[in-house]
Parts: sequence; C-alpha cells; structure tokens
Amino acid sequence: MRIGLFGGTFNPIHRGHLHIAEQTRTRLALDHIIFIPTGDPPHKPAETLAPAHHRLEMVKLAIKDIPFFGISNIEATSSQTCYTIDTLQALRSQIEGELSFLVGLDAFLDLPTWRASDQLLAEANFIVISRPEVRFTQIRSLPMLPSIPEKDLTALDNGQRDRLEIPTSANTTLTLLALASCEISASTIRERLKEGLSMGDWLPTPIESYIIQHHLYGT
Ligand code: ATP
Repeated sequence: MRIGLFGGTFNPIHRGHLHIAEQTRTRLALDHIIFIPTGDPPHKPAETLAPAHHRLEMVKLAIKDIPFFGISNIEATSSQTCYTIDTLQALRSQIEGELSFLVGLDAFLDLPTWRASDQLLAEANFIVISRPEVRFTQIRSLPMLPSIPEKDLTALDNGQRDRLEIPTSANTTLTLLALASCEISASTIRERLKEGLSMGDWLPTPIESYIIQHHLYGT
C-alpha cells in the first residue's frame, strides 16, 4: 500500500484541500490519503485557529463519503506540540505501507524552521504540491535538499513538465508535483465568513453548516 499523509491546520478544511489530495492520489498512484489535523497550540490560544476538536470534526465530515480518504487524530488529540518528525515516526510504527508526506510548496519553503529538518526527508517520501504565487525555483534556497538543476525547476514552474522525482541519499524520494492551480485559501475563507459573505463552492455545504452552527470564525 502506498499511503499519503496530509498534515495541516485545516482551519477550515476546504475544497482546495480535497482537490489536491485527490489529484495527488490519482497522479502518483497512492492507495489512500490520511488527513492529519494539527492540535491546539499548548500555551497561547491562537486567535484565528479554531479548536482542534472542531477542525478534526470538520475533516471527518468532509471526507466521510470518500473511500480513499481517512483521518488520524494523532496530533489533534495531543496536549503537546507535535512535530512532523515525531508524527512520521509514530505513524510508521502504526501503518504498514510506503508513507509519503504531502505538503504545499508554501509550507515546504518553511522547512528550515521544522524540527530535525535535515532528517525529515529521510523519514518518508515527500510530495511537494504547487501553490499559486509560489515558484518551485524558490526551493533552491533550502540547504537540506539534494541539488536540483535550476532548469528542471523552471520547467515545472512554466508547465513544461508536471513532476520531478528526486531520490535522496536515504532511499526516499522527494517528488515535486505541479497541479492545476487552485486559488482557494483558508485565510480568505475565514475573512469571508466573518464578513458574512457567500462561500460559493469553496466549502462543502456540511462544513459551512458546521461552522455556522458552532459560531466559528466570527460567524
Ligand atoms: P491558508 O490558505 O490560510 O494559507 P492553508 O490551507 O495553507 O491555509 P493548512 O490547512 O495548514 O493551511 O494547509 C494544509 C496543506 O495544504 C499545506 O501544506 C498547504 O500548503 C496546502 N494547501 C492549502 N491550500 C492549498 C492550495 N490552494 N494549493 C496547494 N496547496 C494548498
């Protein structure tokens, strides 16, 4: 089994998340995607971050009829800060199969700030998904990556190729995946909810109803 692990705040989960998970699954022939919502920050409550139990519930609602999607509460129910390295190590002992961690290009550019960033790419395969306004050529600034020819990154950014698979020295693969651009963003959704504006089809209806019912994001 080839399993994709999709971590994020999912604050809230939206159609963009579902779309990129499904596109990645089919394009890279993964069998299953497991969503992993983050937990509550242990010390200060984050102003715009809904409590983990609500974000977990919304992910459950969003994926409930999609057979290839599942959820892990490993981070959402933890009372401590969860680092991706620990989550990957814990899930490796629980899940049989080849694990790949999905991450948007914007989040991947922050890799140097992640705990044990120089070990992470050895823990699992990584799949980095394109995001509007961010270019793959920017990852050349990340010191922990194997060297990648600039022309290959430019070809990805220009749509001349749709993926790049880079083997690491640890026998894992870093895949850079260009998907059709998806402009949906959770922060814009939160702003629109607060202003009482329509969500169009950015949010699955049960998620919008859940948000309003629980007065999340200033609704
Ligand atoms: P915001 O939109 O406010 O920046 P976010 O959706 O990026 O929030 P998360 O819920 O943590 O925040 O995102 C989970 C993962 O999904 C991250 O790796 C992020 O980069 C990726 N992601 C989210 N939206 C998109 C998108 N439209 N295209 C590509 N990747 C995305």
